[in-house]
Amino acid sequence: MGFKSKAHKKRSAADTAAGRTGKDLKEEFEGQVRCQVAGCENFADKKIGGRRLAFDRAADIWGENGLDGSARRVSICKVHYREWKKEKKDDLNEWS
Ligand SMILES: [Zn+2]
Repeated sequence: MGFKSKAHKKRSAADTAAGRTGKDLKEEFEGQVRCQVAGCENFADKKIGGRRLAFDRAADIWGENGLDGSARRVSICKVHYREWKKEKKDDLNEWS
């Protein structure tokens, strides 16, 4: 009896060891959306902190020539969103 339960225990441990260890998780995130600030190579996917801004609001910071495309909305990466927020802070304070 004792032997049987011991064998069972050993097998469970082996199953755990054979389980996924996250080795096949990609470290580099491959997004779908590119940041549209000129020259930026980052992704602007929502799940990694990207945002969409009205073109005019983004152009206030980077200028129309500093943005790729001319859609009404531009996608920007997390880094550029932070930059934008920082630049905009003064304006926002004035409004409140
Ligand atoms: Zn960017």
